[in-house]
Amino acid sequence: KSYVKVLRENFLTLATMGGVIFGVILGVCLKLREAPWSDREIMYVSFIGDLFLQMLKCVIIPLIIPSLIASVGSLDLSLSARVGGVAVAYYLLTTVSAVILGIILVTSIQPGIGGEPRADQEESEASTRIALTPDTLMDLLRNCFPPNIIQATIQQYRTTLILDFEGEQVTESGFIRNASDPYSWTVAGSWSNGTNILGLVVFSIVTGIAIAFCGEDGKPLLNFFASVSIVMMKVTTWIIHLAPIGVCFLITGQLMEMNNFGDTLARFGWYFGTVLLGLLIHGGIVLPTIYTVITRTLPFQFIFNMGNALITAFGTASSSATLPVTIESLEEKNGIDPRVARFVLPIGATINMDGTALYEAIAAIFIAQYRGVSLSIGNVIAISITATAASIGAAGIPQAGLVTMVMVLDTVGLPADDVALIVAVDWLLDRFRTTINVLGDALGAGIVYHLSKNDLEDLEEVEDEELTYG
Ligand code: ASP
Repeated sequence: KSYVKVLRENFLTLATMGGVIFGVILGVCLKLREAPWSDREIMYVSFIGDLFLQMLKCVIIPLIIPSLIASVGSLDLSLSARVGGVAVAYYLLTTVSAVILGIILVTSIQPGIGGEPRADQEESEASTRIALTPDTLMDLLRNCFPPNIIQATIQQYRTTLILDFEGEQVTESGFIRNASDPYSWTVAGSWSNGTNILGLVVFSIVTGIAIAFCGEDGKPLLNFFASVSIVMMKVTTWIIHLAPIGVCFLITGQLMEMNNFGDTLARFGWYFGTVLLGLLIHGGIVLPTIYTVITRTLPFQFIFNMGNALITAFGTASSSATLPVTIESLEEKNGIDPRVARFVLPIGATINMDGTALYEAIAAIFIAQYRGVSLSIGNVIAISITATAASIGAAGIPQAGLVTMVMVLDTVGLPADDVALIVAVDWLLDRFRTTINVLGDALGAGIVYHLSKNDLEDLEEVEDEELTYG
């Protein structure tokens, strides 16, 4: 009986997992055909997956903005500051530990040894304009304050990356694949086709604080946003039920598109393995240990309950698109107070990316090893600082980490187009690191909730008294 109960309670997670497995099997079978699949055929197969992704993206803004405003507005200011402070401290602690872990692994495994030094370094540097670290950091700050809040919800994400770009089609992450040579990619144009979630998060937090400041005058607005967020959560729950089918076709479509992956993996297998090992240690040991030490509870059930969000992260390769699922799993399955979940998760999904930070550090040092560039301790420290900044600056969309990598390479004088070395395996690594990014956000929300539980209860008591005594 208890088996049946567990099965029933976790039906969706299990079905989504089944979706991933079925998607891989279907993709591998379709790949057996000798002739490559045309773009149109791939589009037909990916259609259902794309629909699912679009539905998720569609609820992000109506869910996140009202939820964030309502949670910040309903906490008192000192409690908001505490909750936010604890969250940011956790984000920094875990991001820095991910970077350190990455550096330890890549310097001991040395996956890049035996690569090819660049012959054309001078020439390629002359022909490209590399995004400098200050450019990237200034973009991050600019994105915090979008000039037009409506446009920010459409397409205002700004990344300074202008390299040889001649009107070819650019992928979402700003790269052009060279059709004749699958190993060759060009970093392209100024990429700006994502929602500026960071700007919306800052705007919503400030509005929430203003509501809390305005007391009674702000109440009608608070109730309005609280109600919108409840309704949008309902819509989200419906969409989440499509996850098993959506994730399945997203993965099948990706596999059909894949080019010479076996060859690439043989060339860059050690690099791939090092990142994967790092993600496994960080997600399987470091994060759960931090959770256990702080909350004094074992993390297994908590992580198991996040299953649906983790698989969706793998399927979509986007922390932002997964955000509605993460919030739902945290509240419904792990019982995290919505005021905490809806406050810290949107921030976490934009700035807390442990998997990305770990990958940025490993990839930059791998490229230096591959090119035979020796790094001083100063260089390694610079890499750790910029890898942290690059993960904060990366948007929660597919392969955003690859774009902000340019800034890490720049700090040690490696040319930007060396990211081409790792692009071919990135679509798969991206899925793994996004899963760890989402896990980090979820465990963070669990920790913040644990640490602020008493304050939240006190707040509720005060509110009850106010209601009773008028
Ligand atoms: N795809 C990742 C995310 O959405 C970001 C990255 O490229 O590392 O979390």
